[in-house]
Amino acid sequence: MMYDIIIVGGGVAGLYFATLLNSKKVLLIEEHRKLGPLRCSGIVSKRVNNFLLLPKNVIEREINESIIVCGKLGARLGMDSLVINKEKFENFLLKKAEKKVEIKFEIVGKISESYDGVVVSTSKGEYRAKYIVGCDGPNSIVRKTFLKEEPKKFYFGKFCHSFERPANYCSIFLDSKYSDLFSWIAPRKNKVEYGLICERNLNKYYSNFLSSKKPKNKEDEFFGVIPTGLCKCSFPRGILIGNCAGMTKPLTGGGIIYSLTAAKIAAKEFNKDKPDFQNYEKEVKGIFRKEIKYQLWFRKIYSKLSDKRKQKLVKLIAKSKLKIDMDFPITDILRKHKIRVLRSLFG
Ligand SMILES: Cc1cc2nc3c(=O)[nH]c(=O)nc-3n(C[C@H](O)[C@H](O)[C@H](O)COP(=O)(O)OP(=O)(O)OC[C@H]3O[C@@H](n4cnc5c(N)ncnc54)[C@H](O)[C@@H]3O)c2cc1C
Repeated sequence: MMYDIIIVGGGVAGLYFATLLNSKKVLLIEEHRKLGPLRCSGIVSKRVNNFLLLPKNVIEREINESIIVCGKLGARLGMDSLVINKEKFENFLLKKAEKKVEIKFEIVGKISESYDGVVVSTSKGEYRAKYIVGCDGPNSIVRKTFLKEEPKKFYFGKFCHSFERPANYCSIFLDSKYSDLFSWIAPRKNKVEYGLICERNLNKYYSNFLSSKKPKNKEDEFFGVIPTGLCKCSFPRGILIGNCAGMTKPLTGGGIIYSLTAAKIAAKEFNKDKPDFQNYEKEVKGIFRKEIKYQLWFRKIYSKLSDKRKQKLVKLIAKSKLKIDMDFPITDILRKHKIRVLRSLFG
């Protein structure tokens, strides 16, 4: 049988894309039968409501405020966010996707091109399709088969949960002893999350952070890789969506909203008679490229800042009474506070 589309990967990107397709013969192949092994904190902006009506059990809570901390200084930062349960979110998407596409739980081991499309080989069989859509995360086999380019950076994230009474705000620590990016203590429904993302020395930072913050009743621990820095995401036989193409924010690693956005653009293209993959790439880049470029640039400067300079940044945030757009923070802040930001970084 010849499918119209094979989707590799059933994370947020692949599942949401599948739910948006109209009347196509589609096969989604996902490695894990139990979806949503919790590799993600699931803190998203309320923009998620523009994509889906989330059932109550998926949303653990709202967070409207963060405290940005460096050393002994702290500043409040307004944010409109939700903490979603990633496992429940993916299972909710799976149920919707099952109504639209065929789903197989198999591991894709090889992909090759044929004269009329692609051949996807798994542990259990061989499947053919006209087009392929890679939604297969950091180590994407689709990206490696069809494209030479990789996302610019790969971050590592680790976190644990602790049964404690959660606060109603999220603490974000910029201290360089805990991470070369940032670490956090975030409230969940009935527990508290302690975690960090960084570019290197994950275990050293993680043990420094936990021994300093001392979670009281530590349980499950999670680890994940986050590619960031948008790479090429189209090729003649298909496209990439989500993490596999680095569609995440270089400053925070968050990628759920970017994945949902790109999946929606992709589905619009695939629902046409003749999908134009370059058009997909152009539209995606039109939305994210500037923000991701600024964030990579800011990330480079941030990596050179001493804790003293970071404290200046914290003071600036405290003075500005900022409320940020979580998905496009730099374009938003630069639009409103360009001179002050440049002064605190270089002045
Ligand atoms: C520690 C951590 C914390 C995070 N926190 C946040 C956050 O708070 N907010 C936020 O917005 N984002 C966060 N993210 C990022 C977010 O999880 C992703 O950007 C988002 O879920 C989109 O992921 P995806 O679907 O593109 O890829 P993934 O979630 O990586 O899914 C890829 C899927 O492909 C499957 N797959 C891979 N290879 C194969 C193969 N060969 N055959 C079959 N299947 C395959 C995998 O099993 C997996 O299910 C975090 C990520 C990590 C690691």
